[in-house]
This record gives sequence, C-alpha cells and structure tokens, in this order.
Amino acid sequence: MPRLQLKRLALLATLLLMSAAIAQVWAQANMPLASSPSWLAQSPAWDGTYRRIRVPILMYHYVSNPPADADEYRIDLSLAPDVFEQHMEYLFYEGYTPISLYQLHDALMTGTKLPPKPVVLTFDDGYSDHYTSVFPVLRRYGYTATFFIITGMPDHSRPEYMTWEQIAEMAHAGMSMESHTRDHPSLNGRDYDFLVYQLLGAQQSIEHFTGRQPHMFCYPGGRYDDLALTVLRTMPVWRAVTTQTGSYHTTDNALEMPRLRISSDTGVAGLAMLLNTRR
Ligand SMILES: [Zn+2]
Repeated sequence: MPRLQLKRLALLATLLLMSAAIAQVWAQANMPLASSPSWLAQSPAWDGTYRRIRVPILMYHYVSNPPADADEYRIDLSLAPDVFEQHMEYLFYEGYTPISLYQLHDALMTGTKLPPKPVVLTFDDGYSDHYTSVFPVLRRYGYTATFFIITGMPDHSRPEYMTWEQIAEMAHAGMSMESHTRDHPSLNGRDYDFLVYQLLGAQQSIEHFTGRQPHMFCYPGGRYDDLALTVLRTMPVWRAVTTQTGSYHTTDNALEMPRLRISSDTGVAGLAMLLNTRR
C-alpha cells in the first residue's frame, strides 16, 4: 500500500478514536448548554441548495494598549480596550446579533434562518487580553465569539497568551475555541507530514483541554496552498477563514471564507463602514 494511503488510514483511525473519546466526555459532562451541541455533531448535511449569504466576519487581534517597546506590527494589530467596548456598544445599539461560525455554516448548508443583522466576531492568536479584556465585555452583552488558538503557546505557558484553564473556561461559557495551528507557521509550500503535525496536533490539544472537538480553522497569516486545503479536507474541519477581504459567504467556499480586518485605528465610524461593506 502506498505510504500516503497508509497515513490516511492511520489518520482516519485516530479520528475515529477521537470521536469515541469525545462522545464519552459528552456523556459524562453535566454542563449547561445554551443551544444544541453543534461542535459535537457531524457537519450538517448539505440539502443541495446553493446559497450566498452576506455576514461580516470581523477579525480582531490584540485588544490591549501596546507596551512602550512595541514594534510596528504589534501596534497595528492592537485595538485599545475602550475602543473595543465602543465597538460592542455600537453593535448592541444598532441591533446587530453576533453569531458563531457554526450558525453561519448551518445557514449555508441547510438554510436555517439567521437572526437580524448577523455578525461574526473572531479573535486571532489566543492572546491573554482576550481573556482579560474581551471575554468580560462579551459576557456583559451576552455575545458569542470565535477565538483561534495557537496551541503551542499555552502548551509552553507563554505569558502573552491565554492558559488552557482560561481557554476551557471560555469554551464552557459558550465561546467557540478553534484551531489556528500548533505553532503559527505559514501553510504555504509545506509537506504532508508538517501539515498533519500542525493541523491535527492543534485539533487534538483543543479537544483534550476543552472537551470539545473544534471544527473551525484559521490560516496563520492567511497563507495556504492546495496541499493545505487537501489535508484540511481529511479532517473534521467544516469551515476555515482567511485574511482576504469580503463579507459574502457561499455554500462552497467552506475553506476560504473572507473576513474584515479591524486595525488599531478602527474606531466606531470605521467599524460602521466595515459592517456596511458590499463586497
Ligand atoms: Zn494569527
């Protein structure tokens, strides 16, 4: 049997074992759930209707004031906490409803109805300010959000990143804690083994620490190629987000969903403009 096929079989066996373990955790868990556990189920089967839905997916990074010695990159990716609060206040008073990527996926696959003015809030990289500055504000408004975790960071207790305890707490509070690979490498031009290590490794860590199998993925730096897509298709990944700009999502763009970037200078007026993007 060719080597690649053997690897695929091994991967399939691992995934089956993972599903069995998850089912057991689920049976033992006694956690209050706001809605059906879509993170546990199979992807909803496509009903055959092609759909195109406009939902802005906002892409946040740091929500904190950068330290005095911060470089240009850190400064550009940082939104001040008080401006972030103004963003959430704006969504609230303008009648927006933050939804999960699972709800958007359901709507695209089966036509389930979305609430009025839906928006998806995503936070990349798993910084500790997501726990200290973002999570409390989301709870105050009753908003759900999606956090893309670089699992090697909590594995090595890196101080600027959330711990596994914090990540698990947020998962149990209704946040989607999803995969952003193990070490945040570019996924462009990599070989099969490297991709499996980065992708499956992160899946397994998140499942282990939160008790929930992640089904959403975010490309580090927005970089990937055809092999990365091929490997993702062998995994229980239902949707993946990019750094391409746009707010329209289709039934068949499952692994290449565009987002809208929040920068350090995106105030409320800038947010309003992004939410009205017609591309
Ligand atoms: Zn990232």
